[in-house]
Amino acid sequence: MQTATYDPLYLFIDGCWLDAGLRDTAAVVNPATHAVLGRLPLANLSDLDRALRAAGQAFTVWRRTAPAERARILKAGAELMRERSEHIATLMTLEEGKPLAESRDEVLRAADYFEWFAEEARRIDGRVVPANRPGVLQLVKREPIGPVAAFTPWNFPAITPARKLSAALAAGCSVIIKPGEESPATALALARALDDAGLPKGVLQVVFGRPDEVSAHLIASPVIRKVAFTGSMPVGRLLAGRAAAGVKPITLELGGHGPVLVFEDADLEAAAVGGAANRFRGTGQICISSTRFLVQRKVYQQFTERFVAATRALVVGDGLDAATQVGPLANARQLDKMTSLVEDAVLQGARLLTGGHRIDGPGYFFAPTVLADVPLSARIMHEEPFGPIAVLLPFDGLEDALEEANRLPYGLSAYAFTTNARTAIDVADRLEAGMIGVNQYRIVATELPFGGIKESGIGSEGGAEGIHHYLVNKFVSQA
Ligand code: NAD
Repeated sequence: MQTATYDPLYLFIDGCWLDAGLRDTAAVVNPATHAVLGRLPLANLSDLDRALRAAGQAFTVWRRTAPAERARILKAGAELMRERSEHIATLMTLEEGKPLAESRDEVLRAADYFEWFAEEARRIDGRVVPANRPGVLQLVKREPIGPVAAFTPWNFPAITPARKLSAALAAGCSVIIKPGEESPATALALARALDDAGLPKGVLQVVFGRPDEVSAHLIASPVIRKVAFTGSMPVGRLLAGRAAAGVKPITLELGGHGPVLVFEDADLEAAAVGGAANRFRGTGQICISSTRFLVQRKVYQQFTERFVAATRALVVGDGLDAATQVGPLANARQLDKMTSLVEDAVLQGARLLTGGHRIDGPGYFFAPTVLADVPLSARIMHEEPFGPIAVLLPFDGLEDALEEANRLPYGLSAYAFTTNARTAIDVADRLEAGMIGVNQYRIVATELPFGGIKESGIGSEGGAEGIHHYLVNKFVSQA
């Protein structure tokens, strides 16, 4: 295993890298070892006010910066992220726990978002609308909405900030982002790359603090014109209420409970072996993860055997170890949640086929777990587990599979495996989810909109759609 170094931690406000000084701090802990990696400075109210002033002032400059120049800076930032990807990936594995290969992939995909939106910046256009009166020129313009307050969680410390920052900055907005306090160094490294690429001071601030205090203060400020959040449903609802009080639009990405429909004509190997790899990637702490495997009865036993064998073969360990496929959970909260979800399901009659327990030693490790025949009364059939637990259930026909798949208020991702083209079209039409994978699990791409429907969220990030939330319409009618 390589020896790895962690970066010092700062707040980044108005172009200044501010260390802890007299501020309160929070420990950042390696979830694989419990070692303290660093102390994170927590912003106080005067830091937040300074961030708001800087974002307000910088917006007046950045919105007038030529799109080609904004694009140049974002592309240069993306290039620096790629050059530094090995270091940034190591920071991510140290603070979040995921295997180094996944961290590398995430950093490169984060850089891709900056490049994608750099190009979109140059395509923001408007319309000339013919007037009903002669001599009148009617223009419809798209303008940046204003300073943005963005909040991102700990599980994807590069790509979730990247989806928000790349689109907002490309649109001409300034941003104050509060990444998750558990994994702060990755987001700071992205900000460092943008700073080094020449992003004008004040266009981006990165703050950390007590999440509720920070979001209440920023969203209430008249400076902030737009809010974006990724995290849990309860916090999403809270922030949506705060945004509504100031009549500010909000983009929300709030997690899911991804169903996978495996029909009897499916490629079972792809569905089962790929399914186990997908379910336990990121230790299951992925909002679009496949969680409920609904398998047609005729192939249920066969699928279950392959899925369990693939699960047992996964190597759990420190993400810095090259052999590791599944890292630790991010924190003790997650570990307690897994234990109680499994206990509850088994108590209600589920069959525990593998895992179901903590792994001894330091670190928040939980064995990849498969539960079969879980009754609908179990908590795990309603709550997003956000951890390494897969649920297997049989179904008889298309209608009961769809009924179970669409039963929950979540609508983020859904998957189906079938070799029948008619079934593929039917399920893709009728699954209630914003993102659907047919015969594959790896569905996310820079050029596609990422987001949920129902209570999984509002709006989408990425793709050509991703920049629109950061723009407003203005018309000019000139006589
Ligand atoms: P959480 O919602 O409490 O925290 C998620 C992020 O939101 C964290 O980074 C946190 O700092 C921030 N946050 C919390 N309260 C906030 C507030 N009042 N204002 C602004 N930001 C706030 O979730 P958690 O305890 O970290 O995880 C619990 C569950 O949340 C998970 O089990 C999972 O279901 C869900 N979750 C979803 C995602 C996702 O990608 N959709 C990410 C993380 C967590």
